Amino acid sequence: MLSISSDDFLLLLKGSLSINVNDFAALKVYRDYGDLFSVLVTTILTQNTSDKNAIKAFDVLSRKFKIKPEVFASISLDEIIEAIKSSGMYYRKSRTIKLISEAILRKFNGDFNSIFRLPLKDAREALLALPGIGRKTADVLLLMCGKMPTFPVDRHVERVSKRIGFVSMNATYEEIRSALMNFFRPENYLEAHLLLIALGRKYCKAKKPLCFECPIKNLCNYGLSGVGG
Ligand code: SF4
Repeated sequence: MLSISSDDFLLLLKGSLSINVNDFAALKVYRDYGDLFSVLVTTILTQNTSDKNAIKAFDVLSRKFKIKPEVFASISLDEIIEAIKSSGMYYRKSRTIKLISEAILRKFNGDFNSIFRLPLKDAREALLALPGIGRKTADVLLLMCGKMPTFPVDRHVERVSKRIGFVSMNATYEEIRSALMNFFRPENYLEAHLLLIALGRKYCKAKKPLCFECPIKNLCNYGLSGVGG
């Protein structure tokens, strides 16, 4: 674990990184629509593509259809495919959107927001029981829309957490989530999540991390080892 407080760590990150809502598809859609189901559809669209592409696909989809489970449960798969083609893997994503819509109608009677009336553990389990929803998506929805204290771990958060030394290089999703939840204060989880993603995008790139320019190079296991550029 790091030798500085989480508040000082965040200050260091904020000195070199900024959070632009338009760079985060789920955050942007939540700001613009304020609706859990819209954010869920967006997180499906972000799979294996950039946030920019996902936002583009969501814009087309929302111009054609009302983003409601009852709409996607009733229209054909081909109609969804046609609208989200720009996001890639459109057959799989369209199928997931349709299956999830049907499951939400069945399980929540269409009132998906009722999930936030459950305790965190139950709400997380209910989300994970839906088709095509993994732990990262569930945690994004719970933190971003439900303001619940959980920490989503996407590929950037995983990579930087391992390199910095929050966890070992072979840590699991739950181990990373738990280490980050212990280090940061719950009221800072969303900001910390977004800043770690921004750090991964700008400095801690997968192939060639820019350690020399990185704001936390003096705190990071990998940066101190001198392996990075
Ligand atoms: S010092 Fe290098 S490895 Fe560490 S967080 Fe920064 S870019 Fe990543």
